[in-house]
Amino acid sequence: MQILSFPYGIFQANMYVLLFQNEAIIIDPCTKWEKTALEGVAVKSILCTHGHFDHISRVDGLRQLFSCPLYISELDQSMLTSAELNCSASFGLSTVVSTESEVLSKTVYQASDLGITNEDFSMTVVPTPGHTDGSVCFMFEFQNGESVLFTGDMLFAGGIGRTDLGGDEDKMRHSIELLKTMDDGLICYPGHGPMTVLGREKRTNPYFG
Ligand SMILES: [Zn+2]
Repeated sequence: MQILSFPYGIFQANMYVLLFQNEAIIIDPCTKWEKTALEGVAVKSILCTHGHFDHISRVDGLRQLFSCPLYISELDQSMLTSAELNCSASFGLSTVVSTESEVLSKTVYQASDLGITNEDFSMTVVPTPGHTDGSVCFMFEFQNGESVLFTGDMLFAGGIGRTDLGGDEDKMRHSIELLKTMDDGLICYPGHGPMTVLGREKRTNPYFG
């Protein structure tokens, strides 16, 4: 398994590709597939950490290439189709998704639930509201014991996501408390900027004090 990141756009949102040989999962579909230069790879599922426009901007193009499900939390689903709700209108843009989406109705997904046959893992949907009401982190636990957390705009290396674009400060504080209970060695892949390790954030992130 490989985790590749493709930052894109004015806000440099990270699109992640989890590659399992010739099968892949995309997290935060915001970069054209051509930019990945991945050939012979079939995307099996697309996951959104939340509904902000800079994280969903390439959904339609990707769904034209790959007929795979698109998952988002129920609370953020309406953001996909509203430029006001996904905040693109605030930046003079009109980003909307025209293809269908499915809500994340389960807490734990197995690899096969997400269309992956080459490797076994489980993925837990961790609700972490605050940046948006429906923001989630995705925790992947692999057979080799490795765990990684895709944090979207809830957690960045040295920071957290803003709460003034449809978010809530109190909920964000609760989400930070939840992350504090997780393992220090957990590798975190944020929605913007470089990866980090949760223990480092607990020690040095000013919002975790
Ligand atoms: Zn965001």
